[in-house]
Amino acid sequence: MTQEWNTRTKLVHDGIRRSQYGEMAEALFLTQGFVYPTAEAAEARFIASGDDEFIYARYGNPTTRMFEDRIASIEGTEDAFATASGMAAINGALTALVKMGDHIVAARQMFGSCLHVLKVLQGFGVEVTLVDGTKLDEWRAAMRPNTKVCFFESVSNPGLEVIDIAGVAEIAHAGGAVVVVDNVFSSPIFSRAVALGADVVAYSTTKHIDGGGRVLGGVVCGTRAFIRGPLETYVKHTGGAMSPFHAWIMLNGMQTLDLRVRAQAASAAMIASAVAGHDKLSRTIYPGLMDHPQHALAMAQMGSGGTMLGLDLAGGKEAAFRFLNALNIVSISNNLGDAKSIATHPATTTHKNLTDEERAVIGITPGLVRISMGIEDSGDLLADIQAALSAA
Ligand SMILES: *Cc1c(COP(=O)(O)O)cnc(C)c1O
Repeated sequence: MTQEWNTRTKLVHDGIRRSQYGEMAEALFLTQGFVYPTAEAAEARFIASGDDEFIYARYGNPTTRMFEDRIASIEGTEDAFATASGMAAINGALTALVKMGDHIVAARQMFGSCLHVLKVLQGFGVEVTLVDGTKLDEWRAAMRPNTKVCFFESVSNPGLEVIDIAGVAEIAHAGGAVVVVDNVFSSPIFSRAVALGADVVAYSTTKHIDGGGRVLGGVVCGTRAFIRGPLETYVKHTGGAMSPFHAWIMLNGMQTLDLRVRAQAASAAMIASAVAGHDKLSRTIYPGLMDHPQHALAMAQMGSGGTMLGLDLAGGKEAAFRFLNALNIVSISNNLGDAKSIATHPATTTHKNLTDEERAVIGITPGLVRISMGIEDSGDLLADIQAALSAA
């Protein structure tokens, strides 16, 4: 790892392992197993594998390791472990850190599957307290002597609340707890999570890192002691490792990650400003807008408003549906971070299983449409969104 390189250089070159053929592109080692020259060599490999020695793809693979080394370098952590999906990463990070009788404090605005993982852990005797993640007083009040983890999305899905990583880290560390951040919405490009005090950073690489909406993946970044200790031990024995093929897709995605994410964020910022105050909208939610409740924090923490935008249609569900159905370039779907722009109606899709009250608490109104800005021409996107607003 070459620490003096800047992000764009690292995204293209870091972590590469070349075979005896000196191939230019990252090789896809589509193999679950590895051959040992002798029985003694196999025995030795199982006692201690060297840096470039592998046993089985559930434990590690050269292509997967290239991806792990590259993302750890970008995130600024000592190591990383790649997982089958974002949820395998979150489940692995949390489960590797707690046991029966421990306590987790988590922000209540959270991806539904993350809330489910917390419920499963509760069933195994782990205590969980949910707080309003934007209020540091609530984090402070929730801490107990047995609190082991403080967990949150640095920008929440889909409410776009921004949580103060440094503020929560100070409270967590004073109580001896570890800070785990689900950093999907900020993406590695705008992430300063480790510098701000996060101990463990998890991504769904399905989103911006793949960037083409092709395959599932996840990754957990942290200290070498944690990643190659409890995290790897848990994930490799419970089957959550990333496929080498998916790691190869992620390596390719990373080469253009900075270019894509910056273009997406620039379009999101331009379009948010252009449509803010539109008479069909009751709110335009974008951390880069001055009226966002955590605008200053977002700028300090990410240096950007990000790639995601919330449009709350004043006419409720009917207006939201008219808006969605009038879009031509922006697709109705539920992934995010894709090169293609995507619009989602959380209340009837991703968050339909919640009650009205639960949705209200996490900021999901019947009129809310979440837009993941793609890399299409920003003028074309603005025209598409403005035409759909007129039709709403
Ligand atoms: C998508 C997402 C996940 C889950 O990732 P998968 O790759 O779908 O398993 C977790 N957290 C957030 C914030 C997400 O957006």
